[in-house]
Amino acid sequence: MDAEILTIGTELVLGFTVNGNAAVMGSMLAGAGVRVRRTASVVDEPELIAEAVKAALERCGTVIISGGLGPTRDDMTRESVARVFGTKLNRDPAIVERLRDWYKGRGVLNMPEANLVQADVPEGATVLENALGTAPGLWIESNGHLAVLLPGVPKELKALMESQVIPRLQERVSAGAPTPGAPRTVIRSRTLRSTGIGESAIADILGDYQKQIGEKVSLAFLPSTAGTDLRFTVWDLPEGEASGALEHAGSWLLSTKIGTRIYGEGNTDIAAVVLDKLAAEEATLSVAESCTGGLLGARLTAIPGSSMVFVGGVVAYENDIKLQLLGVSADDLTTHGAVSEEVARQMASGVRRATDSDAAIAITGIAGPDGGSADKPVGTVWIAISWRDAERAFHLQLPGDRQDVRERAAQYALDYLRRILAGTV
Ligand code: ATP
Ligand code: MG
Repeated sequence: MDAEILTIGTELVLGFTVNGNAAVMGSMLAGAGVRVRRTASVVDEPELIAEAVKAALERCGTVIISGGLGPTRDDMTRESVARVFGTKLNRDPAIVERLRDWYKGRGVLNMPEANLVQADVPEGATVLENALGTAPGLWIESNGHLAVLLPGVPKELKALMESQVIPRLQERVSAGAPTPGAPRTVIRSRTLRSTGIGESAIADILGDYQKQIGEKVSLAFLPSTAGTDLRFTVWDLPEGEASGALEHAGSWLLSTKIGTRIYGEGNTDIAAVVLDKLAAEEATLSVAESCTGGLLGARLTAIPGSSMVFVGGVVAYENDIKLQLLGVSADDLTTHGAVSEEVARQMASGVRRATDSDAAIAITGIAGPDGGSADKPVGTVWIAISWRDAERAFHLQLPGDRQDVRERAAQYALDYLRRILAGTV
């Protein structure tokens, strides 16, 4: 089954809102075995919306639409789609009732009249109840054309996709199997997350990977400041074959030289991986941060349950703080500078001493845009890891702007500790 995605909203086209809904819809539809052929966005203008809906239906028969179901004048989707299908809008008393209850439940006795348009349903459409908001979704089908209208609010969109849209579409995908009784085919992905190694270095090491993973599996390299995600995808395979192919591809990748650089799958955060490993050792962790200014502590405390492991840290931005709170030597600061191996090591041992933790990470670096020099250019970072009886220091020359350098430094620091715990560095 083919489909197109249409997201509606002037804010999307002008770039004020990132089109997260398209990403959510695309990945969920792919997961259900629907072949998404195109994604488009249009501004809140009825003619343009109607034209885009009509074109999508003519091209592939099915369009999944988000946004513009609200109560205000810029919410034009309902009318525009009804026009394309040539149907009237009827006010549904059950929805009116539900809307009034929704407002009463929130202490508003007189619902704004503007909300009544959300009870308008194109003739013959199915109402998809929205438990999280006021605008229900709508499923409109006629003459082999299907349009699904969903609210723009991301939480509501996702919930409706999960509970109402995907199950219905999945039935169609099975019904449309190539021969009656043939297994339903799916589109599946598996992402392995690497860090500390660039995408071209990975490509060099993997060489002619296609032979290894098989012709039916594609591999995408997705770089970010967190590292390079390696995503395997299979299209149009029966469920069992799809999971087998992905299993094989993942195992192969883990068996290569890249294997030790993989820290997790899917959306795994390396901070969670490190915390888990330390928790298993019943160990505690502290941090001393200069150029990352608390970013590392924020990454760690964003993980639920981090208090089992993370005890705290020092943002030692100015040299005086490095001296006074972390006990860094004044001589070393003068001789080697704040961004040096000596200072990084003393920051790590100092914060460990101050917090009585089993492990410590220290970061000191030049994030830019100013402050670089010939021997220490912007992007120079020293990381020190203190763990039980050992202490290690690592030098990095990181690319990118201030934010990139800070994000990469925090990610590298977590990875060094991960690899020390795993014995692979
Ligand atoms: P409402 O009842 O709130 O008006 P709606 O169905 O009319 O809902 P919109 O008005 O289009 O939806 O958008 C509601 C909110 O969701 C806005 O803050 C908007 O920026 C956000 N939003 C809309 N479309 C998207 C999208 N494609 N991706 C991410 N956010 C979106
Ligand atoms: Mg709106």
